Amino acid sequence: MNGTNEARKQPMYINGEWTAGTAELTIEVVNPATLEPFAEVPRGTSADVDHAVRAAREAFEAPEWREMLPAERGRMMQRIASLLRAQKEELAQLETLDCGKPISQSLTDIEVAARYFEYYAGVADKILGETIPVAPNVLDYTLREPVGVTAHIVPWNYPIQIACRSIAPALAAGNTVVVKPAEDTPMTALRLAGICEQAGVPKGVFNVITGYGYEAGAALSAHPDLDHITFTGSVDTGIAVMKAAAASITPVTLELGGKSPNIVFADADLDDAASWVVKAITQNAGQTCAAGSRLVVEKSIQKQFVERVVERMEALKIGEGKHNPDIGPIINVKQVARIQSYMEIAKQEGCSILTGGRTCSDMPSGTFFEPTVIEAAPDSRLALEEIFGPVLVVYPFETKEEALALANSTEYGLVTGIWTSNINKAHWLASRVRSGQVFINNYGAGGGVEMPFGGSKKSGIGREKGLEALRSYTQVKNIALKIHS
Ligand code: NAD
Repeated sequence: MNGTNEARKQPMYINGEWTAGTAELTIEVVNPATLEPFAEVPRGTSADVDHAVRAAREAFEAPEWREMLPAERGRMMQRIASLLRAQKEELAQLETLDCGKPISQSLTDIEVAARYFEYYAGVADKILGETIPVAPNVLDYTLREPVGVTAHIVPWNYPIQIACRSIAPALAAGNTVVVKPAEDTPMTALRLAGICEQAGVPKGVFNVITGYGYEAGAALSAHPDLDHITFTGSVDTGIAVMKAAAASITPVTLELGGKSPNIVFADADLDDAASWVVKAITQNAGQTCAAGSRLVVEKSIQKQFVERVVERMEALKIGEGKHNPDIGPIINVKQVARIQSYMEIAKQEGCSILTGGRTCSDMPSGTFFEPTVIEAAPDSRLALEEIFGPVLVVYPFETKEEALALANSTEYGLVTGIWTSNINKAHWLASRVRSGQVFINNYGAGGGVEMPFGGSKKSGIGREKGLEALRSYTQVKNIALKIHS
């Protein structure tokens, strides 16, 4: 893995310094569209992780950060937002090179990343405590303090957006940060480090460790001197992170994916619903935790509605992200193999593949997968398990009670889409589905910086985004002062 081209080597960022760390080996960073390597990052070790956590601890205790006025912290975060926007084109191109997505999506991701900093910049000087009436001679009040050193383990599907989603509220509340981007997509997190430096973030407050999940990621989640871990990724890794954190009673926020349904009633605006159902499963080639990967459709319109969906899926343009198609490549060959294995399972389970189901033959590499629609039984593996590709599974319902039971029938509970012109039916369902977010006659994934986001059941623990996210990055201290007259 050791590269020869020095220019391609990107160092990590620890304690305000660009460094190769103790790592002797590097990880090649590959363009998913062509499978050609274009950069190398250090294969961070547990010693590098320890160095970053110690730097973050020292920075947390140092007066430069601890005594910075909250309003100044806010201004610093506004500068980060401005710098992200000023470099939007270049950052978007890097994101597309790194994770393959269409350039328009990368531009949106950089804008959303800037929005996170802008949104939480405004909060930095509004993190309030309370006074509590206990007794006439007692002044009881609470402080909402930063928790301390926070770790952020980030997946490959929305690298900069998901990183900023948790880093921004953590910094706004006065914490320090150690980020571990995914090994497939480390580039924009490293660029964010340069932006933080330029914006005047004190040394040690923001650190980036590159490396493999099973090495640097595992070392970070097991580090005994963390005060919070935010992890986004698969359920199995989430369980490993939670177990590692348990040894030090480190709190975790977990965002672990889903099998989110779009429930379409016969009285919905079917054209609008069909467009959104397609977008919800094809955005980022379906590699989205909140992807609308199940279509639960009222039986009376199943045939006509599914036809509309299939027609739209077949019209989508597939290609390299830099050409701004509708669908770019899958992140790597391992993930392609995973999607293909579900096509085998579909055949074994007797499901009907209505369109797609294969990799594309006329692309620069084997990482492009056709948008796929499959009719499957609600209790099939196809209908219950997260595939993480452009694969939509369809089945019908007849009553709203059945729609509810089907919506709740997986072990996930991240997002639910409801499509109907009947507000009573919409609210009946919205108030009963087990998911962290519900969209009625619209569907959102990725945006919505202001809206709390997170899952029920195996979709995760805790909420990100909005003011709600501050709960993870602050801790309440109660102070009771006895007043002697
Ligand atoms: P993953 O869960 O293995 O990786 C996510 C992050 O965790 C990466 O930064 C990785 O380096 C790190 N990591 C891996 N092992 C670790 C460990 N033992 N301790 C600490 N950190 C560790 O996900 P993946 O392998 O990249 O993707 C596999 C599946 O995860 C996908 O098929 C999909 O189902 C799911 N996924 C979900 C999301 C989401 O947003 N919810 C994102 C990406 C992947």
